[in-house]
Amino acid sequence: MYQPVTPTVVEALRRIVGEGNLLVDNEALEPYRHDETVGLRADPEVVVKVTSAVQVSEIFKLAQRERIPVTPRGAGYGLSGGAVPVQGGIVLSTEKMNRILEIDAKNLMVTVEPGVITGDIHRAVEAEGLFYPPDPASLDSCTIGGNIAEGAGGPRAVKYGITKDYVCGLQAVLPSGEIITCGGKLVKNATGYSLIQLLIGSEGTLAVATQIILRLLPLPKVQVDLLVPFGDFQAAADTVSDIIAHRILPTTIEFMEQDSMLAVERLLNKEVPFRDAAAQLLIQLDGNLLEAVESDMELVGDLCLEHGAQDLLVAKDRPTRERLWEARRKIIEALKHESPVNHMEDVVVPRAEIHRLLRGMREIATRHAVRIISFGHAGDGNVHVNVLKDALHAEQWEALVPAVTEEIYRLALSLGGTITGEHGIGAIRRRYLPLALDEVQIGLMRQIRDLFDPNRILNPGKIFP
Ligand SMILES: Cc1cc2nc3c(=O)[nH]c(=O)nc-3n(C[C@H](O)[C@H](O)[C@H](O)COP(=O)(O)OP(=O)(O)OC[C@H]3O[C@@H](n4cnc5c(N)ncnc54)[C@H](O)[C@@H]3O)c2cc1C
Repeated sequence: MYQPVTPTVVEALRRIVGEGNLLVDNEALEPYRHDETVGLRADPEVVVKVTSAVQVSEIFKLAQRERIPVTPRGAGYGLSGGAVPVQGGIVLSTEKMNRILEIDAKNLMVTVEPGVITGDIHRAVEAEGLFYPPDPASLDSCTIGGNIAEGAGGPRAVKYGITKDYVCGLQAVLPSGEIITCGGKLVKNATGYSLIQLLIGSEGTLAVATQIILRLLPLPKVQVDLLVPFGDFQAAADTVSDIIAHRILPTTIEFMEQDSMLAVERLLNKEVPFRDAAAQLLIQLDGNLLEAVESDMELVGDLCLEHGAQDLLVAKDRPTRERLWEARRKIIEALKHESPVNHMEDVVVPRAEIHRLLRGMREIATRHAVRIISFGHAGDGNVHVNVLKDALHAEQWEALVPAVTEEIYRLALSLGGTITGEHGIGAIRRRYLPLALDEVQIGLMRQIRDLFDPNRILNPGKIFP
């Protein structure tokens, strides 16, 4: 179906992006063969680092003529293989489109290129007293373009929502090479279908985002973090649902079970707080009035104690907060360090069902005699579930993963949830899509993809079974 990248095509690409922005060398291609998904690799034939929408457009026109697949790539920090060129061809990297173009304090908007690292947006707007809430745990590595393509969330989603809630304007290049500009610095927009919302979460299969306008909020004046250890795993899980049921809306409620903390300890080679606790909650509250935030903090603290919390560690200043968050942010890396072969799922359920989901995970682990470690954004019903290979033989592992994966998905679906809350379908969950969506919905999605990209040159091998 696809044609190889010939030396003539490489020359044409070189003319578009310039000599320094094209890679064909085997060694130079190495970082572009994978993202952060364990065990998935594929060879690009050529990598181009684009610097403008016009270049993206010219590359698409060439790729259409030659029938060559194009895989967009931000930082390669995805966890479903979205940026991995499973059909070869061209990897189109946005790493050089990394400028923050404007912070517009009058309109509370920031305009950025897609390759800007998300944490850089945070720091730039916070310096002006403004706030961009979406905060994937990978924020110091991933790009805003990748966040848009994946519909990324983060711990603060409990109170502030996710990437899709902040994108007001989008310039994008379609696989035909046409450049479209949707929306603008507009808080409201009721003009036709929202193509912005269609492109968000489309996993780089419909268009390449080349410029983005994001809505900002005033930076909250007060922020408090609580680290709460529990002697009992289920008590910590039950507390999450109870806080939400008490009509308190923390900024974040992160759940971390003991094994994840001990793995971080081994990675960092230093003791983590409350290492003996069966599970911990990391809860953040924010607002503008100290009294209001403190009163919510007391309520949350009381609820935790009612559920048997062993202690409450409060952080009000940035260095202490950073210390509390350090271990949480290191969990994925620590689990890879613990068991280089592991399998990560990212299911989501209605928030009130989170305690049932966490209990169910333990039952699946016991049934299959395998280590399953759960952690993550419990406050929005979204947990990351890591199945570790540990010392299992390769054949045992190969047989176990599909069986456990399907049980995890069926558990989430039975609780009214779905199979991925943040990381996307990408290359690795394609065959499970029919578990979560019916034929009519998958059919509609295929038609939308074919309308944007009838020759299927843009990121083939993703989403659809
Ligand atoms: C340690 C760790 C923690 C993480 N924590 C979170 C978390 O808390 N929340 C969360 O949601 N995710 C999280 N992730 C997953 C990941 O960081 C996000 O999916 C992130 O959005 C990926 O961004 P990226 O720039 O690395 O994208 P890439 O991996 O490069 O690409 C991801 C997808 O986006 C497409 N793409 C990239 N740029 C564009 C563009 N400009 N236009 C169109 N398509 C594009 C690619 O084709 C691909 O399909 C985590 C990952 C790691 C490794």
